[in-house]
Amino acid sequence: MKSKRTILCSVLVVCLFGSLLTVAVNLIKKGKGTSISRGDLDRIKIKKQWVSAAEKIAHETKDKEALAVVSAVLQNLVAAAPTSGGVRVLESSREDIPFTVFLPLVSQDTSNKTFKDIVLNRGIFATYQHQNRTIIVKEVEPSSEVWKGLMLLHEGHHAGDLLYEPYDLDDPELFSDHERHVHNFQNRLTSAIGGFTYDRLLRKEVARIRTELKKQGLDGVKRQAGASTNLTIPNRTEYYAELDDALTPALSQFEKDARQTSFWIHAVFMIYEEDRPLHDAEVGKSIFLRMVYQRGGVLK
Ligand SMILES: [Zn+2]
Repeated sequence: MKSKRTILCSVLVVCLFGSLLTVAVNLIKKGKGTSISRGDLDRIKIKKQWVSAAEKIAHETKDKEALAVVSAVLQNLVAAAPTSGGVRVLESSREDIPFTVFLPLVSQDTSNKTFKDIVLNRGIFATYQHQNRTIIVKEVEPSSEVWKGLMLLHEGHHAGDLLYEPYDLDDPELFSDHERHVHNFQNRLTSAIGGFTYDRLLRKEVARIRTELKKQGLDGVKRQAGASTNLTIPNRTEYYAELDDALTPALSQFEKDARQTSFWIHAVFMIYEEDRPLHDAEVGKSIFLRMVYQRGGVLK
């Protein structure tokens, strides 16, 4: 029996880590006496909001990995602003740990040639660009505090991995293994925040995906005799309004799309955990993510 692939929802919003959209930028360091504009102050303010949202999650969940991301990465983020062909750092960095640049993009940045594509691409919520050691986030549409915190912990985790234990980002296997690890991390935090309401929704999504797979003649994601491949990507649906109850209301369609993609990935991961032994489940999740990222144009 041949496995079927289904069409991926066009509103897939993924972390564009290691993206093909990586931009070459010159980093202009903050000099003494450099003047700071109103727009610069706004970007510094945005950074503080994202960092405090991430810290709140780390402290409330007491998740060791989240606390490590906060202390090893987020406590030395320096806000930056885009310039023509570069990035201007707006703050001084601490000397004791490596710094990471935090670049919030706002609607007006569509006038910037280097970053225009990222601002306009609705498939990108946040990204970490290793070459420039920069976390880019979008403040183009409103997002809730909890979602900003989760996304910054996600990107901060990538930043920390590459800062402290570098690996070859161009190796698709290593890329997807790290992405899987970071999604496992994000899933654990989201479950801790969303509690019973989130877990109940997750069960509903797992059941929906199982029904969809069954219609395609598949028994979940179990390895099936005679199948040419098990790499099936189930469809993502539109936003589950109940996620507002679990995680506080989403503030824009952009946030809803990003939340739903993460939630859908979480449900697929659960199916792998239920259907396969431990190691095999993790391998399956990595392959699934690799396909998602290939479809999203992140990986070749
Ligand atoms: Zn990621």
